[in-house]
Amino acid sequence: MSVTNVSAISTGSVQIRPEHVESNGSPLFLWLLTSRRWTTPRPINVYVIEHDSGLILFDTGQDRASLTDADYFPRGPLRFFFHRLARFRIGAGDTLTAQLAAAGFDIANVTMAVISHLHQDHIGGLGELGHARIIVSDAEWASLASPLAIADGVLAKHIDLPGLDWLRVTPEHTTDPRLAPFTRAHDLAGDGSLMLVPTPGHTSGSLSLIVRRPQHPPLVLVGDLTYDVRLLEQARVPGVGSRRVLAATSALVNGFVARNPGAVVLAAHDPAAADMLAGVTA
Ligand SMILES: [Zn+2]
Repeated sequence: MSVTNVSAISTGSVQIRPEHVESNGSPLFLWLLTSRRWTTPRPINVYVIEHDSGLILFDTGQDRASLTDADYFPRGPLRFFFHRLARFRIGAGDTLTAQLAAAGFDIANVTMAVISHLHQDHIGGLGELGHARIIVSDAEWASLASPLAIADGVLAKHIDLPGLDWLRVTPEHTTDPRLAPFTRAHDLAGDGSLMLVPTPGHTSGSLSLIVRRPQHPPLVLVGDLTYDVRLLEQARVPGVGSRRVLAATSALVNGFVARNPGAVVLAAHDPAAADMLAGVTA
């Protein structure tokens, strides 16, 4: 059993604030209220892993309904903050099903989808994945019950959909030297090729996926731990999440890369990610 290929698709694009990409030290509410600038459009990546057992997704993108359905986001003051946080462009051809098809994949062949964390630009395809197993961390799932969930961008009504087959995992202690300096992991496919590791910081339950392929350096899919791997390399952290925990987790990822020359770190909204991935899978 092994991974035969990994590729990226994107369900539209998103513009965020420069203070989101890299923290300037000020708290989120302050830059959210005062920022006047947007980045250029960035991808909303879904990673497609071709494994002997079927297609496995890492994240599921953003739902087009978030733009077309006036009730997708909560009404009231929170809507104002959501609209200041990010600007999305999602066309009719940008659904998960359509983007998979454009890349030559049938969504019916997806057997598993890992959700790095429950923010709405990672869970958008859930409604199209009723036939697949959906994996999330126990810690992230617990955030659904928080009274602050909606303010944190976790919209339960778009996550806890009827009929979904959730598998909640807590990575177990591991002494596998090939995962160092990570000390906890969950073996997703049971063959050691896909190792989920806890990477808290952006959210407390965020997961990353280490993809181990025969004859290739590993890939590290990190969700929203960073928006630019060049910043991650320099331990410069984003403006959303806990700066202290983001810094500690960034050091773990950088430590893993240092032990695995050629390892490629791929984030959900890093404009460089698709080209970096193509460069190591061609
Ligand atoms: Zn996020």
